[in-house]
Amino acid sequence: MATIISTNKRPIFIGKKPKPLDLNVLDLHSTNKDTPALIDPYQRPITYLRISVTDRCDFRCTYCMAEDMTFLPKKDILSLEELDRLCTAFIDKGVKKLRLTGGEPLVRKDIMLLIKSLSRHLETNDLEELTLTTNGSQLTRYADGMADLGIRRVNVSLDTLDEEKFRKITRRGDLRQVLAGIKAAQKAGIAVKINMVALKSDNKNEITNMLEWCHGEGHDLTLIETMPLGEIDEDRTDQYLPLSKVRESLSERYTLNEIPYKTGGPARYVDVIETGGRLGFITPMTHNFCESCNRVRVTCTGTLYMCLGQEDAADLRAPMRQSQESGLLYKAIDEAIALKPKGHDFIIDRKQKKPSIGRHMSMTGG
Ligand code: SAM
Ligand code: SF4
Repeated sequence: MATIISTNKRPIFIGKKPKPLDLNVLDLHSTNKDTPALIDPYQRPITYLRISVTDRCDFRCTYCMAEDMTFLPKKDILSLEELDRLCTAFIDKGVKKLRLTGGEPLVRKDIMLLIKSLSRHLETNDLEELTLTTNGSQLTRYADGMADLGIRRVNVSLDTLDEEKFRKITRRGDLRQVLAGIKAAQKAGIAVKINMVALKSDNKNEITNMLEWCHGEGHDLTLIETMPLGEIDEDRTDQYLPLSKVRESLSERYTLNEIPYKTGGPARYVDVIETGGRLGFITPMTHNFCESCNRVRVTCTGTLYMCLGQEDAADLRAPMRQSQESGLLYKAIDEAIALKPKGHDFIIDRKQKKPSIGRHMSMTGG
């Protein structure tokens, strides 16, 4: 049984032992509004940061990780203070939307302390949105607390509604736990968008079912093409399903009306007239979404990737550990953004044995 502790509003579930959510535990850096905003060489303002808070996960999804993953040594991973400091530096530089991801962000020890500390930027309106991408397994514990701290939306990854297939894809997940987590989030007033990776061999025939379920439950659904990131145990050409084909077959059954709706991410949305819900497509393979890119990603070791599909990166951990003053960190961020590439070009090819990008999605975060 999780323990409930009291906050000024609703109770927060943070684990088995009572643990007051004491912000003094984190040594927080103050904000600085005098540093220039981030504009890349193609005049794109960088306003969206996705940061991975851990490379660890309680699942081992077949398209994301190998069964036998080696995780990073703890000393390489940014502390909660460092994560807060890094996010704060980006917010100082104009980031308005912050997404915590992983690995599984909610398995990071004391994650609620980080969420609580970052939520101060929501209170001052320096940050417009604080959100997460999660596999949903821990949401029953954390949803109420997250809602109290100003989280209004989360993305939950769910590739199937079939219990057995769910276990097969995630290699260890429990579908019922995830569905209960989604319900808990909804009950707490958090909007849930479902992310489904379209897999030719595993869930191609379930897309319609998932669409009907999501819209029936009041969730948007976003379909994602598998990307060639990191070594996995399977052949990616067996899994890759172009969303252009999925869209074609969905339009035989549904009326898909394009809409300008945007969430700050790369999805393009349609209204599905028959179900009355929204459907998004993230198509890094069949349709490159780079021209309007406003995002950068930081790994849990403090490596800044200027593009999900390129190897260009900058180490932000070293300048952070070198000095408690933020000057070096700001400089490293500015120099990296000046090198942000125009876009990426993924290829999934049977002849090409190695993935396009060596690092796993669980490292860079989705
Ligand atoms: N563990 C959390 C989750 O599953 O939502 C957050 C991290 S996960 C890496 C973020 C997103 O990346 C998930 O929606 C997942 O389905 C997606 N993902 C992982 N590997 C991928 C790949 N190779 N291609 C496309 N999407 C991938
Ligand atoms: Fe874990 Fe998310 Fe990767 Fe699945 S997709 S293994 S839940 S990090």
